[in-house]
Amino acid sequence: MGNTHGRRSSQQRKHRKRPHSIAVNKPESWPSSKPSEMSRDSRQGSLRRRYSESGNYSYKTPWPLPLSEAVFLPEYDSKQPVKISDFEILATVGKGAFAHVLQVKNKQTEQLFAIKILNKAEIIKENAVQQCKDEANIQVKLGNFPFVVRTWYTWQTKHNLFIVSDFVDGSDLYTLLRQEKRLNDTTVKIYSAELAITLDYLHKSGILYRDLKLENILIDEEGHIKLVDFGLAKLVKPRERTGTICGTLQYMAPEILNGKPYSREVDWWSLGVVMYTLLVGKNPYPAKQEHCSQLSVVEDAVEIDFPSDLSDDAVSIITQLLQKDPSLRLSNVDSLKTHRYFEGLSFEVVLQKEKSPITQETLKSLRRRSIASRMKFPRKVDGHRRDKKPRPLSWASPGSFTVQDKTHMDWLVADLGSLDALNLNGKSQEARRTECLVSP
Ligand code: ADP
Ligand code: MG
Repeated sequence: MGNTHGRRSSQQRKHRKRPHSIAVNKPESWPSSKPSEMSRDSRQGSLRRRYSESGNYSYKTPWPLPLSEAVFLPEYDSKQPVKISDFEILATVGKGAFAHVLQVKNKQTEQLFAIKILNKAEIIKENAVQQCKDEANIQVKLGNFPFVVRTWYTWQTKHNLFIVSDFVDGSDLYTLLRQEKRLNDTTVKIYSAELAITLDYLHKSGILYRDLKLENILIDEEGHIKLVDFGLAKLVKPRERTGTICGTLQYMAPEILNGKPYSREVDWWSLGVVMYTLLVGKNPYPAKQEHCSQLSVVEDAVEIDFPSDLSDDAVSIITQLLQKDPSLRLSNVDSLKTHRYFEGLSFEVVLQKEKSPITQETLKSLRRRSIASRMKFPRKVDGHRRDKKPRPLSWASPGSFTVQDKTHMDWLVADLGSLDALNLNGKSQEARRTECLVSP
């Protein structure tokens, strides 16, 4: 947190040294402090001009940074330490709410990376600027934890944001469950121990994850987990509570769904949903369309429906994680690892990755399945080819991440051109996204 502030304020100081100039026309309703200069600018068709402190302008050093770039600083570097052309694009591996994820190869080192490309216009339209800045900030801050994907660079171009991480060349828990239908107790024990260690690490780093679900839990080439997607993560102080209604509906704790202030307990609820789903092969609470009906489903369920073949210890730990009252919920790693369900499993050994969660055979067929589902770039993406059912999307209640006021938003929109123009009315979303990708 301290670092973040340090970085931000030094960038802001840098900005303040430069006189403010923006490559858009000011809205008419805004009073201009320098009417003569404004009219001169609009006659000449450009505001890309530097004003000195005294109010005189200079043609020598144009200030090249439009607001739609400045607003994503300092988290996304606009000087582009790396460029998309440094990489050979191999395949599309994922597609979410604002993002495309590509598998790429560094042209010089041949190393594989994943690049998440986010579309600025959509982010601004959804009022999620701060959220995307937090995503980059948190991911970079997390460094090299064994169960979290490592992020190397973040930068921006006029229309897109880029996050470069190690490529996880395996699969994910969602695909594993589709392949296996249900997972055995040993596998679920190791995966949930890896997840619990990861949640503990995130929480101790002051991060609420808020989107724990099978699709965001990748499986690396050795079968261990790698958590991706910090798009809904939030930095919180030790006792701070937050209130944004966000997550993926069937994984959201009741206190999120009913709009109460909440904290770290929400991630432990999601772990309970993940464990149930892996052991039983379906979600404990069926998915609804929005948070009010999802809340009714959770609140109306008097008991969780466990199949008779589940062990008593599994039932007990899931019941404690899916405790509706957050103050009674099992929500720390120390209580979790001493539960009878984990008897005989050392969390130290799990952290050292000395326990394989799945067999080599399962891993091989999983990787084959995963590679087959990648789509060669720039083939249009219609979701994962082998997924007949659409994957559940992360979700936030409308306007949740509002950080700009209306005027600020108007400026950003003007800066990017018009949102309508960027939406390319009449074309499919996929077509538009692909166009953005090929002209970074
Ligand atoms: P979104 O916010 O759109 O859900 P994610 O960060 O979850 O975006 O990425 C979407 C998908 O892309 C993931 O579910 C995963 O399948 C794939 N993906 C993301 N990051 C990586 C990575 N580092 N290596 C391999 N695949 C990845
Ligand atoms: Mg995701």
